[in-house]
Formats: sequence, structure tokens, C-alpha cells
Amino acid sequence: QDDLFKNIVSHAKEYGYIFPSSEIYDGLSAVYDYAQNGVELKKNIREYWWKAMVQMHENIVGIDAAILMHPTTWKASGHVDAFNDPLIDNKDSKKRYRADVLIEDYAEKINQKAQKEIEKARARFGEAFNEQEFVTTNARVVEYLAKKKEILERMARSLETENLADVKALIEELEIADPETGSKNWTDVKQFNLMFGTKLGASAESAMDLYLRPETAQGIFVNFLNVQKSGRMKVPFGIAQTGKAFRNEIVARQFIFRMREFEQMEMQFFVKPGEEMQWYKYWKTTRLNWHLSLGLGKENYRFHDHEKLAHYANAAADIEFNFPFGFKELEGIHSRTDFDLKAHEKHSGRKLQYFDPETNQNYVPYVVETSVGLDRMFLAVFSNSLKEETLEDGSVRTVLRLPAVLAPTKAAVLPLIKRDGLPELAQEIIEDLKWDFNVAYDEKDAVGRRYRRQDALGTPFCITVDHQSLEDKTVTIRHRDSMKQDRVKVSELKDIINQEVSM
Ligand code: ATP
Repeated sequence: QDDLFKNIVSHAKEYGYIFPSSEIYDGLSAVYDYAQNGVELKKNIREYWWKAMVQMHENIVGIDAAILMHPTTWKASGHVDAFNDPLIDNKDSKKRYRADVLIEDYAEKINQKAQKEIEKARARFGEAFNEQEFVTTNARVVEYLAKKKEILERMARSLETENLADVKALIEELEIADPETGSKNWTDVKQFNLMFGTKLGASAESAMDLYLRPETAQGIFVNFLNVQKSGRMKVPFGIAQTGKAFRNEIVARQFIFRMREFEQMEMQFFVKPGEEMQWYKYWKTTRLNWHLSLGLGKENYRFHDHEKLAHYANAAADIEFNFPFGFKELEGIHSRTDFDLKAHEKHSGRKLQYFDPETNQNYVPYVVETSVGLDRMFLAVFSNSLKEETLEDGSVRTVLRLPAVLAPTKAAVLPLIKRDGLPELAQEIIEDLKWDFNVAYDEKDAVGRRYRRQDALGTPFCITVDHQSLEDKTVTIRHRDSMKQDRVKVSELKDIINQEVSM
């Protein structure tokens, strides 16, 4: 698993998808740059989302709010007071961890022990094995699972009541060690606000403390009435936005899964109070179907319905994806009630209400939110697509089986050799295709090696120009996944490519 993850990170760098930020200065922790191919893949994911959410829904419009917002926004949203992670430092290693993550990892270890027992029993009893019964009757498994539950419940209670001494006591009781050094010498647990602060204005007296937004959602809430009025929107309607968000996360080696600067794709759907559950269900299904449409495999997704809800929510679920390090949150779907709009009404003194022309009544709409991390989507797509395949002749090829619709480059045009007018004809084909697709040209090395390079880059098609092409205006088109090659007319290329790559 570790090797797989390392392989993904190095492939992303080698093939121009993702570089560590400011690498010549040894990088910046949990900050990454999207490279020449990465920026295209990321743009295509964003467009795929935007099209599904905005273009395909008559009652959803987009905005692009500023990253910097009036500081009272974050007071109203609760981020100033409550956007915290509980931190703990190890006195010996001087390493810093999220206390809740240390405890959760420990609980997961106990869970794994239970799973091992279950697997052992399954192997022993074979067909006759009844997992449900075993889990409730086998003393050891019952004990493991009860312990796991107790630990997580105690942690949740302590965090909810902000009893940080209890969180530390739990870490000590369980004898949790620093995962890197094994030391058990911990400091107290402290709350740490995840927002990045900055200043507006030049002189010290007039300067105003600002934050880089930790989520894009608030830019939507503060514009709710502007959009509703100027767009003559009728409830139910949605506002969508993609953009950067910033969180001073405490992270360890998670690549682009958890970054300090990342991009969100969010949509807030404003509904009549009382109708939120129906819309919550609608968006859960609709969003899962959007993910499934990419073809990364149904088995790689699951819902995690939250039992413990944030103070503003009356229902919440995550869509989890099977990342190289297991199932983790990819998207959140939250029924946020009227918490945000009411809070902004209170802090701004402005009314943020909808006038319902059918009932002649004013009300504050309820909100159902869908929120997905663009970088996490990128990681899901990229890690799921990277494959090592053993071919019939025994050789191994590395192929990035990106959904064709998302691939950075749709086709590479390759002259079989570098003379006899083949490069010129290849360029002519590029001149024609480039109005519709990103296409690449490559004439270096033997054609077989060029195919492999395009496989590793994720290019769905290779178009090879040979001597016959000069005579009859046909070329071979090679499909990345099947490696099948067809002889086709140059004039048919556009249609063939379009069939696979159009959104
Ligand atoms: P997590 O529990 O993983 O920290 P969260 O519940 O805080 O995530 P939300 O605030 O609901 O996340 O944000 C919505 C989405 O934004 C997440 O589902 C995730 O895809 C993405 N996201 C959140 N934080 C980060 C981050 N630090 N780096 C990359 N993506 C992120």
C-alpha cells in the first residue's frame, strides 16, 4: 500500500502532473503545484462538475466570490470561535499531531484486530460462516469492537464539551505512542484555529485583520439575496462556486488529499423550510451518480451517514472513496438548515429573506449543500487510473487509464519516421485537430516507446502517420486501453475522438 502510494506521487511528478511547491527550496509542507498536465486534468474535472451542476440545471447559477471577505463573515459563520483542531505535541520528538487523529488511528488498530479474527474464522468455517453471528458471540471480537466504540465515544464527548484534559487522559490511558519515534511523552492538548490570518491596509492603525477563506460556502451565503434578486431566482434554486480555500492543517504525508491551499467545488441549494430532507436525499443520489458516471468502479464509493451532527446541520453524509490509503471523505452533503443565513442576518443587520410570490410570505430558506474537494477528486481519479499491466508477451506497461473526457491531452500525433514528409503531414493533422482538442506531437524514439510514453501520460489516442498516409490520407489510430489499432481516414479522426472525449 505504501509502495503504491509512493508510486502515485512519483508518477505525478515524472509525468508533469504535480510538483511539490517551491521545490528548489525543498518544498513547503502540504502545498503543491499543478504542472503542465495536472493543470489540464484539474481544469477538466472542474468543467465536468460545472457542466453537471450549472449548465444542466436551469435553477442553478454560478458565482466567483473573492477569497478575501469582510472579517465579520467568519465571526457569523462560527469559524473564528469554533474552527479548531485539538493539537498535541510530543515533547521528545517535537512533532505535532492532531489528538483526535491519534486516537482514531488507535481505535482503527483495534478494529483491525477484530477484522483479523473474523477473517481467520471465515477461513476455518468456509461456507457455513455467519459473520453477523460470529461478531456478536465471539468474546474476543465483542471485546475489541466494544473497546473501539468506547474510545471513540469518549473522545467525541470530550471534544464536544471541549474537555481537552480528558482527551489527553485518553491518549495516556491507551498508551498511544508517537507513530514515528515511539515516544509517549506528550504535552497538553490545545485548540488550534485553522484559519490563515492576514492584514488589509498599509498603516498599522488602519490595518484590518482578515482571513483567507477556509471554505467557499460563505461567499455564496453573503450573496444569496444579490443573486436571487438580480437573477429573479425562485426557490428552490442553487448557487455554485469553485475556488481556492485555505486551512492551516496539521498534516502528515497525505499528498494532495489534505492540503493547506486547496480548491473546493460547492453548491448551496436554497429550499423551502420543511422540504430540506427531500432535497437532501435528491442531492445525495445525484452527486453519487455524478461520481459513478466517471467509471472508476461502483465498489470504490460508499456513503458515510453522520450520526454526530455539526451544530448547524440536521442531516449530513460523506461520499467516501477508496483511496490508496483506504476509504476516506471525498465529498460532503449537508442539510445546513437556516443556520448560515440567520447568522448573517444577525451580524449584518440585513434581512436575508425570500419573498414567496405564491404564498405572499417572507422566509429564510433552508440550505442543502454539496461540497467536494477538487484536489481530492484529482487524487481519486489519478490514483484509480494508474495501472501496471502485464501484456501477452510478458512485458509490463504503465498506463494511466484516465476517463477520456478528463484526459489532459486527447491525442498524440506521431510520424513513424522523421523524414519523407511524414512530420509535415503529422503537423497538418495537428493544425486541424487543435481547434477541438488538446493534441501533442512526438517524433522522438521508436514508435513503440512513444506509445508507452503516451500510455503513461494517459493520452487516450495515438495517431500514427506512415508512408501509406501520404498516398491515401489514412492513418492508424491506437486506443490506449485496448491497444487496438485501426486504419482510418484522416477526415474521420475528429468524429472518432469526439465520440469518446465529449462531456
Ligand atoms: P476532513 O474531515 O477530511 O478534514 P472536512 O469535513 O473538514 O474534511 P469540509 O469542510 O466538509 O471537509 O469540506 C468539503 C470538502 O473539501 C471535503 O469533502 C474535501 O473534499 C475538501 N477538503 C477539505 N479540506 C481539505 C484539505 N485540507 N485539502 C484538500 N481538500 C480538502
